[in-house]
Amino acid sequence: MKIGIPRALLYYKNEKFWTTFFDEIGAEYIVSPETNKEILTRGENISIDETCLPTKLLLGHIDWLIDKCDYIFIPRVAFHRGYEMCTKFLAQTDLVCNTFRDRNIKTLFYNVYDKKYNRERKAVKKMGKFLGVKRSRIKYAYTTAKQAQQYFEMFREQHQQKVLEESGKIKILLVAHAYNVGDKYVGEPVLGTLKSLGCEPIIAEYMNEAKCIRASLEVSKTMPWAYNRHLLGAIELLKDEVDGVILLTTFPCGTDSMVNELIVRKYKELPIITLTVDSQDGTAGMETRLESFVDIIQLKKERA
Ligand code: SF4
Repeated sequence: MKIGIPRALLYYKNEKFWTTFFDEIGAEYIVSPETNKEILTRGENISIDETCLPTKLLLGHIDWLIDKCDYIFIPRVAFHRGYEMCTKFLAQTDLVCNTFRDRNIKTLFYNVYDKKYNRERKAVKKMGKFLGVKRSRIKYAYTTAKQAQQYFEMFREQHQQKVLEESGKIKILLVAHAYNVGDKYVGEPVLGTLKSLGCEPIIAEYMNEAKCIRASLEVSKTMPWAYNRHLLGAIELLKDEVDGVILLTTFPCGTDSMVNELIVRKYKELPIITLTVDSQDGTAGMETRLESFVDIIQLKKERA
C-alpha cells in the first residue's frame, strides 16, 4: 500500500514528523514534487474562484498524486497549541473527498478536532491501528517523529539566530505562513529577490513557535488563530532587530487580511510592505515594489 503526501499546507509544518512516522512504521509513501506550473494549473482548474491559493495548490498536488498511490494523506486539524486553526484545515479532508469523489479517492487521516491534551497522539495512534501497525511500534514511531520535527525546528532556529547576530546586511523579516514561505511558487521568488538586492531575509516562521505565541499575547489577547499568533509573536520579538517587515500573503486569505491590518496599525514605526500573491503569472510587479522598499530602508538607515 502506497501513501501519497501532498507537498502543501500542513506538510510544511509537519514534514519531519510525518515522514519520520511513516518511515518508522515501515509504510511506503510518495511526496508530490515542488509546486510547478502544471500543479498550479491542475489546482486552479478544479477549484472555485473564492478558494485561497494554498488550498488550490493543495488540490493541484493531490491531483498530481491521485493515480500514483493508494491513499491520500490529508489530516483534519482544528486546533494547535490550544488555539484555533483557519477553518480550511478542519475542512480539507472533506473538501478533498468531495472534489475528487468521481475518482474513487481513498483518504488516510487523523483528526485533531478539540483542544484536549494528547489529542494528536491519540488520533495518530488510531490511524496507525487502521494501517495494521502494532501498538508498541506506533508509540515508538510517534515519539521518534515528534523528536525529529523538534530537532529540525531547533537547528533551523539556531542557524537563523546566528545570522541575525552576525549579518551586517539589511535584515528584512518575512512574515508568511509556513506553506507560503516554503512553496516554490509563492515564497521562493520573494526570497530570491531579497537576496539579489543584498538583504538578509529573516523568516518569522523559523522563530520558536511557543515563544512567539506567548509574545503575541502582548499584542492581542483575543486573536483566535494559532499560526497567525506565531507570526505576530515573531514581529513582537524581532521588532528592534530587523530593518523592515514584509507581510507576504496569498489571495484571498481571511485570517491574514485581519491580522495584517492589526500589524500595520500596531507597528507604525517599522517599515512594512504587504505583498499578495495570487495564481497569476509574473513577478515583475513584486520585484519593483521590493526594490523601492529596500531603497527606502537604505535611505532611512543612512539618515539615521
Ligand atoms: S490561513 Fe489563509 S491562506 Fe491559510 S488556509 Fe486559511 S485562508 Fe488559506
